[in-house]
Amino acid sequence: MTQHFIVIGNPIAHSKSPEIHQTFAAQVGIDISYRRQYCPDDVASFDAVVAAFFNGGGVGANVTVPFKQLAYALCKSQGRLSEHARVAGAVNTLLLTGDGSPKDKTLYGDNTDGQGLVNHITSLGWTLTNARIAIIGAGGAARGVILPLIQAGIGQLTLANRTLSKAQVLVDELSAASNTINEHAVETCATTELTGTFDLIINATSIGLSGDTLPIAEDLNCHYAYDMMYGRALPFLQHFAARGAQTSDGYGMLIGQAALSFERWTAHTIDVTQATSAIQASKKR
Ligand code: NDP
Repeated sequence: MTQHFIVIGNPIAHSKSPEIHQTFAAQVGIDISYRRQYCPDDVASFDAVVAAFFNGGGVGANVTVPFKQLAYALCKSQGRLSEHARVAGAVNTLLLTGDGSPKDKTLYGDNTDGQGLVNHITSLGWTLTNARIAIIGAGGAARGVILPLIQAGIGQLTLANRTLSKAQVLVDELSAASNTINEHAVETCATTELTGTFDLIINATSIGLSGDTLPIAEDLNCHYAYDMMYGRALPFLQHFAARGAQTSDGYGMLIGQAALSFERWTAHTIDVTQATSAIQASKKR
């Protein structure tokens, strides 16, 4: 029997999720339908789309910009949240949980973005244990990755942002939501003040969308540089590659978070390396 999935967003036409999840389904041999679901940008429309989908027998939904916070609010008021979703204040994966009976179905919200990043970094062979890490950017993407990174055993974490006050507010909010983060004592600074040598620097800003270049201090260096953006040449990665760092864009994070969503929905484990190769091969055909 075909299992039904959607990704809800606005805009949504560009989403790569259908091809990624169809690749996963082919890998584990199950029959799925996965479609893009446009939704008007208001609470009532979002809640109605989610209700209609699950009432109609849908198995799982991904949630993307601008609805991750609305999905969080919906699960908080009517369902349950994973720890990662609760601390991030954002949900990218929806499913129904319960004891299996038709009457016991509860909406459940998870956030797989951060663990997707951790899994991708680990698959690159980059060591996170005790690593000295800087994240640049204090928006939704940074919010979702801090707890999974700390749980992965990193050492010191510095959060840098163009607007310093937003970084401080983010750390305060995350520390209040999670003892793990509170005990880790995340440092903050303005992006232009970020200096020294880190094991890993992660660009979690949206600057790549604009084509602008981040202001990077002359004495800022790293062994590994990761940009959450993908699909275009990224000056942030070019800068650190020229200084000898290993680099990666965020395409593997995209596949990684999708694999975790798929695993939550279907209980099938995905070979992410094999799936990534299959997706790249299909693009060349
Ligand atoms: P937000 O809009 O929530 O945050 C944007 C961040 O970028 C803020 O910290 C902002 O700083 C900073 N910023 C924007 N423009 C500039 C600039 N010109 N100079 C310096 N800093 C700037 O975006 P998200 O957190 O949702 O997304 C960030 C990036 O992560 C995007 O590129 C997105 O595509 C990517 N992403 C990738 C994923 C993946 O799976 N690979 C998953 C999720 C996100 P300030 O606070 O000062 O405005």
